[in-house]
Amino acid sequence: MVDPVRQDVVSGATTVVIKVGTNVLANPTGHLDRHRIQSLADQLHRVRETGRKVVLVTSGAIGAGVGKLHIGKRPTDLAHLQACAAVGQTALMQLYQESLARYGIHTAQILLTASDFENRARYLNARNTIVTLFEYGALPIINENDTVSVAEIKFGDNDHLAAMVTNLLRAPLLVLLTNVDGLYSDDPRTNPDAQLLATVPNIDHSVTGLAAETKSALGTGGMESKLKAARLVTVAGEAVIMANGSLDGILDRVFAGETVGTLFLPHGEGVPSRKRWFGLTVRPKGVFRLDRGARQAVLEGKSLLPIGVTAVEGEFGKGDVVLICDTEGTELARGLSNYSSGAAERIRGLHTDKIAAVLGSVPYPELVHRDNLVLTS
Ligand code: GLU
Repeated sequence: MVDPVRQDVVSGATTVVIKVGTNVLANPTGHLDRHRIQSLADQLHRVRETGRKVVLVTSGAIGAGVGKLHIGKRPTDLAHLQACAAVGQTALMQLYQESLARYGIHTAQILLTASDFENRARYLNARNTIVTLFEYGALPIINENDTVSVAEIKFGDNDHLAAMVTNLLRAPLLVLLTNVDGLYSDDPRTNPDAQLLATVPNIDHSVTGLAAETKSALGTGGMESKLKAARLVTVAGEAVIMANGSLDGILDRVFAGETVGTLFLPHGEGVPSRKRWFGLTVRPKGVFRLDRGARQAVLEGKSLLPIGVTAVEGEFGKGDVVLICDTEGTELARGLSNYSSGAAERIRGLHTDKIAAVLGSVPYPELVHRDNLVLTS
């Protein structure tokens, strides 16, 4: 079935990021599925033939390493996981390379860590490299640089990485290929009446709640991380389609605008590149909690003034990213603070004309200027 909204989303997607999960590429013991990878490569070729720029974000390195080393199951400690990733990554790339070579497509391996996205220069370098690879007609294939990623600098999962890459490139569409058909209204294994949701206009609490239920029922973290990733992309003003990568010809169907999987529609206005970086990419260093009046002002797109802040949490410097929350701690926005946490603590709750008496001068009337603020709720 062809749906006009899908048609619209897909036809406007001139740059697309396609993420493939381990469970699509390998069996539970880590044996890579050559046939599946060849089929993916065939479809990637066809998507590129339509003139689209394509980036592939692939998991499967650790899984493939487990298979190659004949360990039988995934190790639990970091060093062994990292070693498996190093072994498996070459196997994975070799298969992509062989499968795409018949179309004369060059593959380009890009391994990234979360800290590459925190650092503005490296962030821009990653973008420049990907754009230049497009110019050469090569296919960028991205995975997390597992060998050097430790807890503090990990994306956590490749869904998050794929969302970051989508926002980095301002790609209008992210396709998440997994081993389920999409988001269901309930767990389809226990509730025969569970419906596959074809379109989700807004990833609000009622939607994230579905993932929590699915997670506890199925015992995997898959859907929750996919919804978080989808949210990061839809909040930036782009679309996400989640579909079953184990189905034959799934990418062909997605790009034909067929109603397969779940489409998450863009939510709100498109967020410009600079705001995507601090609003949706960099990890916040602190929190401002707001009273009702300030909450309303921020939601209306106004600057945040000291008078509306009831609490300052964390330690941060001038220019760092802070979360802007309501009194209950629900995130409303993110922004660049004009003041360090120490100075902000001293002036919170004060009228702007009282700042000078406390700090000796008024470098900025607002704590966060509206130009440096992104609504994320
Ligand atoms: N980077 C990991 C790998 O290639 C995958 C992480 C994930 O599954 O999200 O094995």
